[in-house]
Order: sequence, then structure tokens, then C-alpha cells
Amino acid sequence: MSAVLPASAMQADAEVDVAIIGAGACGLVAALRAVEAGADVLVLERDAKPTGSTSMSSGFIPAPATRFQRAIGTEDDTPGRFAADIQAKTKNRADPGLVATVSKAIGPALEWLAVSHGLEWIVLDDFLYPGHSRHRMHAVPEKTGAALLQRLATAAEAAGVMVATGAHVTGLFADEGRIRGVRIARADGSEENLACKALVLACNGYGGNADLVARHIPELKDALYYGHAGNQGDAVLWGEALGADIRHLSGYQGHGSLAHPHQILISWALMMEGGIQINTEGRRFSNEHGGYSEQAVNVLAQPGRVAWNVYDQRIHDFAQSFPDYRDAMSAGAIRQGASVAELAERIGVDERALSDTLRTAAALQRGDAADEFGRDFTTKPALKAPLFAVKVTGVLFHTQGGLMVDRDARVISTAGGPFPNLFAGGGAACGVSGPDVSGYLSGNGLLTAVALGYIAGRSAALGS
Ligand SMILES: Cc1cc2nc3c(=O)[nH]c(=O)nc-3n(C[C@H](O)[C@H](O)[C@H](O)COP(=O)(O)OP(=O)(O)OC[C@H]3O[C@@H](n4cnc5c(N)ncnc54)[C@H](O)[C@@H]3O)c2cc1C
Repeated sequence: MSAVLPASAMQADAEVDVAIIGAGACGLVAALRAVEAGADVLVLERDAKPTGSTSMSSGFIPAPATRFQRAIGTEDDTPGRFAADIQAKTKNRADPGLVATVSKAIGPALEWLAVSHGLEWIVLDDFLYPGHSRHRMHAVPEKTGAALLQRLATAAEAAGVMVATGAHVTGLFADEGRIRGVRIARADGSEENLACKALVLACNGYGGNADLVARHIPELKDALYYGHAGNQGDAVLWGEALGADIRHLSGYQGHGSLAHPHQILISWALMMEGGIQINTEGRRFSNEHGGYSEQAVNVLAQPGRVAWNVYDQRIHDFAQSFPDYRDAMSAGAIRQGASVAELAERIGVDERALSDTLRTAAALQRGDAADEFGRDFTTKPALKAPLFAVKVTGVLFHTQGGLMVDRDARVISTAGGPFPNLFAGGGAACGVSGPDVSGYLSGNGLLTAVALGYIAGRSAALGS
């Protein structure tokens, strides 16, 4: 139960300069920055061990003009080019000031994490995610979100950041828009009040709150939420009670490629490399290169709310560089057929329909005709036997709407100006994906978690 309580009701058990709610990427980055700026910081995390959606993620963070990007030979990327890609995906519906803020901050944030906190970055250059005009996806060498979170947690510990686990923040104490402290429920049922000079909301969005999902994203109300269950929308609920400017609650990242029923992410790189999605009738139903987020809705609209990703040996070999794909292989999710007929039989799809679909795709690859869904097939080789398939469904990964912030990551009120000491980042803040599923450009999630955490931590420390 999240509430905003009058400051007069608070009897503080302790006090810090900066309190941060949530120990995901946003909270840990904000904490590192705030400690570096000289503040006394406490991160409050409801779980016994920090994981968040960050450790469930692939951990890919887009950033332009870093030295890591230059090391792979990409010299001409800029924050402006990145911002243009973000806005093209969202059809100019993201706030331009916010887009400029995060696309300028993310490169310096990753460089600072490397220089000051020892994080290592590689840039993925074997394929382009839909909508990105340059290779700019950064990852830690393990290429997983779990490793990213672990590296951030190790850096935070080394920097002296205090993280209180099992500390569920159930209320904020506020006084005419100024935050005075937070109420914390402990696992043993006890309660504590912590006074703070500044507060950073890094507790992500509302994907784990079925009522809020049904209200704001009705098209996914019956879909699986594949993010962190503890993200219950507390920032949005507190924001509503405080009179914060809250935007784009109908915006979210879906994903149209979660292995079903194994619940393992199958990278969209398979589609970008030439794979196709068919329904159980053996037919394609969309432009797979439109984006994996909106593909969640397209897949859920198919019979049985599932689809098959179909691809060949070349793509199967390539996909094995992804840890998730190797997990899917171990779990028995990947089917194989030496011929079209054998694959059709193994996945229970009509052979003639599958043959027709593959013949049409081959013609599109030769450039003999234009795809009815608008995909360009000519850039990758045609699929050839042996063929592979994995059954997938569409899911909700995380929400993109939230509290609007200014360029200092200060939460804006509906009255117009910023709250004096309230900051937000990551999934707690309004993102840069616009008001629906189609605006999510790959990496927008960790982009705002890391970039706004980087800004919020310093702003909160200096303002506290
Ligand atoms: C499967 C999957 C793959 C993804 N892959 C990518 C990717 O490759 N690139 C990308 O950019 N994005 C990706 N995302 C999205 C990305 O994971 C999120 O955008 C990002 O992790 C958000 O970070 P955060 O710090 O805001 O939230 P989280 O990492 O979710 O951290 C929030 C923390 O707050 C805690 N918390 C919540 N409420 C409270 C409370 N009241 N009191 C105390 N603690 C609280 C939670 O327990 C949690 O630990 C993916 C998401 C999923 C689900």
C-alpha cells in the first residue's frame, strides 16, 4: 500500500542526505553519483537481494559517441543522430527535451562507469536492432542483465554505498511538495521512518500491478508480465497523490518472442538476420522488422496467442552467441527439421501452407515482389533447409509511462515547476517511447535507467 503522509506524522528513526528507492540500474547508478558528490546515501530495496528488471534484462544499453563505439570503427554517431532515431520510432511523440537530455547523458554515463567504477563495455556490432541507424548497443562482456546488475552492485559496495535490503518503502512524508522522509516496512512486520533531504524514485513502473496494467494497457491485461514482480507502480501512485505531471501511462515495451511455454527470451536478432514469424496456420502476419515491442500485440492476436519463429542453420549458429538462446536449446524449446515437410510435421503446421510461405519469402528475398507487410527481405540470404523453429508468445516487459522530469531529473508538478527535492529515473519516470507500444526503440529502458540515474544522483546530492 503506497501512500503520501503528512510530514507532521513522521518521527524519524534516522536521517540521510539522499534516499533512493530501488536497487536496479537506476538506483545503483544514482547512488554511485550521489556518493561521489559527497552525499550521505541510503538505497532502499524491498527484496532480500537486489535483482529488479535490470537483472532479467539482456543488459543492452544504447549510447552514441563513446570511445567503445569508436573502437569498433563507428566514428560518426552523435547524440543528435541517436535522438533522431528515438523520435523516428516514436513518431515524434516523446518529449524532445527529455530525448535530448538522455541521448546526451548516456555516453558520458557509460564512460564514467568505466573510468571511475571499473565497468567494462563491449559494443555489439554483428547486427543492428530495428530503428537504430548505428551500432551503439553497449553491454558488459557477459552480455546479460544479471552481470550488469552484479557489476553495478560490486561497484556500489566498493564506493561505500549503503543498500538496505528487505526495506519496502510504503509511504512518503511530504510537506507542501517537499519530501521529508519515507516509511519503511521490514520483513518482520516492523516499521521505520527515514528522514531525507532529497529522494530519488528508482522503483521502476507498474508492470507488476495487474489493476494498473488493466487500466492503462487494456490490450495486455491478460498477457504475461515478464518483468520484476516487485515493480508495483509505487512511483506512479505517489506521483498521483503529490500532483506530479504523469505522462504516457499507455506506453510500454512488449516483446513478441518469448519461448512458450518455457518463458525464455528468444533474441529478435533472429528476425533481423532473416528469420520469419508464422502463426499456427503457417502464414506470416506482420512486418517482423517493425520492432519487437509492437510484435507482442501482433503475436497475441494470432490463433492460440502464439507464433513460431522459423529460421535456418546459419541463424541458429549465430543465435548461439546469446546465453538465452543456449538456455532455450537446453530446455528443448528449439525444433529442427531436415526439410520443410519434416519441420512442418514437428511443429504441427500444415506443410503446404509453410511451403507457400517460405516460397514467397524466397521470392521477396530475390526482389521479385514487394512484401504485403512492408518488410525488405533483400538484405539477408533466403532461408534454406535444415530449418529450425521455436514457439513464442507476446508479453509485457515493462511500462514506459511515469513521472515527467526536467533536465536535472527533478519531478515536475502539474502546477508547472519542479518539486524541490524529488527526483526520478528509469521506469519510475516517463520514458522516451511515447504513448503506445510501437514507440519503444530497443534499449530505451536501460537508457533512461542509467542516464536519468546518472543525472538524478548528482542533482539530488547537490540539492540536498
Ligand atoms: C526480459 C527483459 C529484457 C530486457 N532487456 C533490455 C535491454 O536489453 N535493454 C534495455 O534497455 N532494457 C531492457 N529491458 C528493460 C529494463 O530491464 C528496464 O527498463 C530497466 O531494468 C529498468 O531499471 P530500473 O532501475 O528503473 O528498475 P528495476 O531494475 O526493476 O529496479 C527497480 C527496483 O525497485 C524495487 N522496488 C520497487 N518498489 C519498491 C518499493 N516500494 N520499496 C523498495 N524497493 C522497491 C524493486 O524490487 C527493484 O529491485 C528488459 C526488460 C525485460 C523484462
